[in-house]
Amino acid sequence: MRFLATTSFRCDFGIAFDIDGVILRGPVPIGGSPQALRRLYGNSGELKVPYLFLTNGGGIPETKRAKELSELLGVNIMPSQVVQGHSPFRNLLKKFENEFIIATGKGDPALVMSEYGFKKVLSVEEYASYFENIDPVFQYKRWKTTPISDMKTPSMPRCDVSSDRIKAAFVVSDPVDWGRDIQVLCDVLRSGNLPGDANRSQPPLYFAADDLEYQAAFPTKRLGLGAFRTALESIFNRINPKSLEYVSYGKPNPFVFKNAEAILRQLQSSSCLDHSENNGMSESHPFRTLYMIGDNPSVDIKGAQQTGHPWFSILTRTGVFRGNDNDAEFPADLVVDTVEEAVDFILKRECIS
Ligand SMILES: [Mg+2]
Repeated sequence: MRFLATTSFRCDFGIAFDIDGVILRGPVPIGGSPQALRRLYGNSGELKVPYLFLTNGGGIPETKRAKELSELLGVNIMPSQVVQGHSPFRNLLKKFENEFIIATGKGDPALVMSEYGFKKVLSVEEYASYFENIDPVFQYKRWKTTPISDMKTPSMPRCDVSSDRIKAAFVVSDPVDWGRDIQVLCDVLRSGNLPGDANRSQPPLYFAADDLEYQAAFPTKRLGLGAFRTALESIFNRINPKSLEYVSYGKPNPFVFKNAEAILRQLQSSSCLDHSENNGMSESHPFRTLYMIGDNPSVDIKGAQQTGHPWFSILTRTGVFRGNDNDAEFPADLVVDTVEEAVDFILKRECIS
């Protein structure tokens, strides 16, 4: 008979951490996040509790984000543990793999899409650069722009912007140049083709998230992707006879939480210590509880509650929410000051502290 120290431990729970306003503010760890995460690993650095990051942010490939987070937080984070707003765009590969698409947002939106396997993608920045004066105030923009020749568009079959029809537009992360992007997206979405062409049906438009506001490095909330969507939609609907059609991903969409549960189950069976009863063979079993730790009641808490069992919502006071009590509209199952306090609560409740 063999006794394992881990026999009593069943990882029938998992954790999803929001990033902005919970783990980081800008690039700075907050709320004791490095210490809190370290408690989810065993002595030799193995993952003890299945957890992932569930953020509406993005703009860089999951592989790169996992590396950045590992360095900032001092633990080894795998790319599969990073679920960003745009991660579900992967599921649209079948539809658009070989079609001409455009992508916008901070960071490297075309690289993100090409890492998912999309073969003909241009950033809106690069697409716009083929049309002289498409942005009428371009010459007044004093920030540094990237010469087309230096753009990091990954090698791919070249797109011919003068003849290829755009089959879809993706807003991957917060756009940097709202004015140019609204202009170019209105052009493309109205014509389904070259700017100024006759009206045709609108190509599909996808947003990675729909947060109106979020907590970044500035002390008060900043306008998010949902604010950009509102601006684009409002302008488009004024200049086009048909209303804008679009699909938004990201929290609070229950789809995101169901997808997170599926990923946590894979982590549970591949990484956790619960192998004692199967001679080392791993087996996943249903989660009793999944904890969502977030700072935004209308995004993190609303999403967990709408999804229902097995989600349990924990609201921190380090980001969007700063109240003394609980949020009035979307009250969380638990309110704590910091993510460290949240992890402490979870580990005590699950009897593994
Ligand atoms: Mg947040």
